[in-house]
Amino acid sequence: MTEPLTGEAQRFATVNSLMSAIAGTGRDARRGGYSRPVYSTAELELREWFVAEATARGLAVERDSNGIIWAWWDLPDRHDGGAPAGADPRAGALVTGSHLDSVPGGGPFDGPLGVASALAAFDVLKMREAAGTLARKRAFAIAVFPEEEGSAFGVACLGSRLLTGAIDPVRALNLTDERGTTFADASRAHGLDPDAMGRDELALSRIGDFVELHVEQGRGLNTEDYTDAAGRGPAVAVASSILGHGRWRLSFTGQGNHAGTTLMTDRADPMIAASQAVLAIRSIGAAQPGARATVGRLEPVPGGTNVIASRVDLWIDVRHPDDAVTAALVTRILEQAQQIAALEGCAAELTEESLSATVHFDASLTRALTASAARTVPGTPALATGAGHDAGVLASEVPTGMLFVRNPSGISHSPEEYVEDDDAATGTAALADALGDLL
Ligand SMILES: [Zn+2]
Repeated sequence: MTEPLTGEAQRFATVNSLMSAIAGTGRDARRGGYSRPVYSTAELELREWFVAEATARGLAVERDSNGIIWAWWDLPDRHDGGAPAGADPRAGALVTGSHLDSVPGGGPFDGPLGVASALAAFDVLKMREAAGTLARKRAFAIAVFPEEEGSAFGVACLGSRLLTGAIDPVRALNLTDERGTTFADASRAHGLDPDAMGRDELALSRIGDFVELHVEQGRGLNTEDYTDAAGRGPAVAVASSILGHGRWRLSFTGQGNHAGTTLMTDRADPMIAASQAVLAIRSIGAAQPGARATVGRLEPVPGGTNVIASRVDLWIDVRHPDDAVTAALVTRILEQAQQIAALEGCAAELTEESLSATVHFDASLTRALTASAARTVPGTPALATGAGHDAGVLASEVPTGMLFVRNPSGISHSPEEYVEDDDAATGTAALADALGDLL
């Protein structure tokens, strides 16, 4: 029989009970895993869960004009005149958090692990403050960002992009989901004022440092560089950089027609062009060391079994550490797509939907995170990632860092994404130590 956990170890383990509490929310019977797109019933339930957990902990919860939820642990009122009169007591706060939305058929950890770990880490910090072992110098908040995955409206990290002004609010408001609902209408229906959306100086001034804990989304911690004799990698890593990445929509247009009456020789079928383009994109990506090029979504219009499509849209995700290389890859993809389209009597057109430059996280914050995490995980490695995050968007505005928790499957954006309970608890311990040191 194992000893019951006590004290801080018990609080670290809280991350697993928090994750268990939401394990039934947003399960996707068809795809497997979870589908929790922004403003879906599942995502709204997760928000309610977060608000309830934060409120129960005495945090002051509010939602800002861009739909970001903030749970504040304000400094206790000081009567020593510490803060200048009129100064914002939340300015320069330490902020941690992540997102609750998911890709279609995603895993349970991408996003929610960072939110649950933040709540569990807060429990520990509060215990330390009560015990007199933590003397905070600034406010603290947990932030939950909407539409991180871009699953509903097509642009990833939409909440943090609005907050920082990385996306023009007019463009954001005109984005549509698959039913044709604009982001403006969806936001209004959920109590937000579309006219108030966009760069938020007050909210930005309140983020002194941002730390996001996230499930590792590749095999980074399972490679021979890091694994022990038993083949087990360290539970936690500190992020060094995020690979530059972007999304483009490639549209092939041809002649919609009848599948039975149109001779094979008389067709201008954009599906044929699109399918050749998928293969070409794979070859272009594979030929460039360090690059990734993916077609994960394809939509024929009108999409009938006995109908030759009039248009096929496919979405391309391209990533490379060198932004110039990413741009060159996309140019090459468009050139090839146009050649392929011409041979089929079709046309090809490319639209950029989002583009994020390679992000190098704040050097001094990363050093501090590494030193703190090393108390729990000696020799905490630094890991570059190919996945985008709100932390990457915020990095252009404020010192930002990330902690990754080991994912033994090495798989993410899939039901097989996985984190062991012990690693989640270790991740929370490392996060709590890092936040405590930074406070
Ligand atoms: Zn994520």
